[in-house]
Amino acid sequence: MVKIAIIGAGVNGLTCALKIKEKYSDFDVTIFSEEFTPNTTGDGSGGLWYPYLCGSTSQENLTKWGSETYRFLHDLWYTGGYHISLIPIYELYRDKREVLRPRWADLVFGYRELDMRQLDHLSRMHSINYAAGRTFTTFVIQAPKLLDYLYKRYKAANGKVVKAKLSSLSDPLLMAYHVVVNCTGVGARQLVPDDRVFPIRGQIVKVKAPWLNYTIVDEDSGHYVIPNDALCVLGGTHQEHDYRRELDDENKDFIVKGCKQMIPGLKYAELIQHWAGLRPGRDEVRLETEERGGKVYIHNYGHGGSGLTLFWGCGDSVVELLGESLSSIKPSDITSKL
Ligand SMILES: Cc1cc2nc3c(=O)[nH]c(=O)nc-3n(C[C@H](O)[C@H](O)[C@H](O)COP(=O)(O)OP(=O)(O)OC[C@H]3O[C@@H](n4cnc5c(N)ncnc54)[C@H](O)[C@@H]3O)c2cc1C
Repeated sequence: MVKIAIIGAGVNGLTCALKIKEKYSDFDVTIFSEEFTPNTTGDGSGGLWYPYLCGSTSQENLTKWGSETYRFLHDLWYTGGYHISLIPIYELYRDKREVLRPRWADLVFGYRELDMRQLDHLSRMHSINYAAGRTFTTFVIQAPKLLDYLYKRYKAANGKVVKAKLSSLSDPLLMAYHVVVNCTGVGARQLVPDDRVFPIRGQIVKVKAPWLNYTIVDEDSGHYVIPNDALCVLGGTHQEHDYRRELDDENKDFIVKGCKQMIPGLKYAELIQHWAGLRPGRDEVRLETEERGGKVYIHNYGHGGSGLTLFWGCGDSVVELLGESLSSIKPSDITSKL
């Protein structure tokens, strides 16, 4: 039997494991991970479909992976019952500037640059002078619900899980596996090791504010408000090379003050939780095959602030790479690893 190991049970690891197991039901697929949902980075995230902080990953890849993910979220939203909202986002700038149209603009609903009348309206609504911006309609998920759905779907396909922290890509636990898929997020820095990976720390606040029904991102101050169907995420920070997972009081004040300036009604919002996590930063997403010591490794990490925006499309690319590498596994290897 072909044996596949996936390292990492974040949104990327779960998606790859699920897609592989559903395509190759007779393969032995096992996830090895230190943490599982609800304790992964994606669980705490804003859950917004929005390409953000993913270095110089090509527009072509962002559009390919992003569109497959957008379509997947659309199908779940259309079916209903998955806690996915479809709402407008306003991305705003205080200084006049040209807002470049990204290639992914063609795949989202209702993309347009904001004109002066719309900017005046938003400036009055939020008591801040905005000079440029864009809007489109996008998906916001309750991330722990989506991760739980992916996990249960994987288990229902007879996928296996092992809770373990691996020391390296040649960890003895991986010995019996023909192909290893590496989805370790910021953990790839030590595991691979890959010093192009670095943390981009993000602190946020979760509140209840059910009257809010659009996302707003103030690109100049760094504040954002992302409502999902249960709560509202207020942000945020993006501190490169900062490994602290503990909360920072100054960051709390910065977030709460800035978001209340944009939306004064937030003073009535019930506080649910403060949270900080590490986005897996890299100069670009690494999604490629590597052969080391006769074993095939497929890397899928470094998604920065876009893991929930690209995961489904990245999973498809991993399955394609796996298909290409299967021919290199000799039948004798398969019997010897039984
Ligand atoms: C504050 C904040 C807000 C965000 N908001 C958004 C958003 O709105 N939209 C969006 O698209 N993205 C957002 N992100 C980014 C998103 O959360 C990440 O891109 C995404 O979670 C990365 O997923 P991943 O599966 O690659 O990594 P992770 O979720 O970090 O998972 C890595 C997995 O690997 C495991 N692991 C690591 N090392 C080892 C090891 N040595 N041995 C065994 N297991 C190991 C971990 O335990 C974990 O299970 C946000 C992030 C933060 C911090």
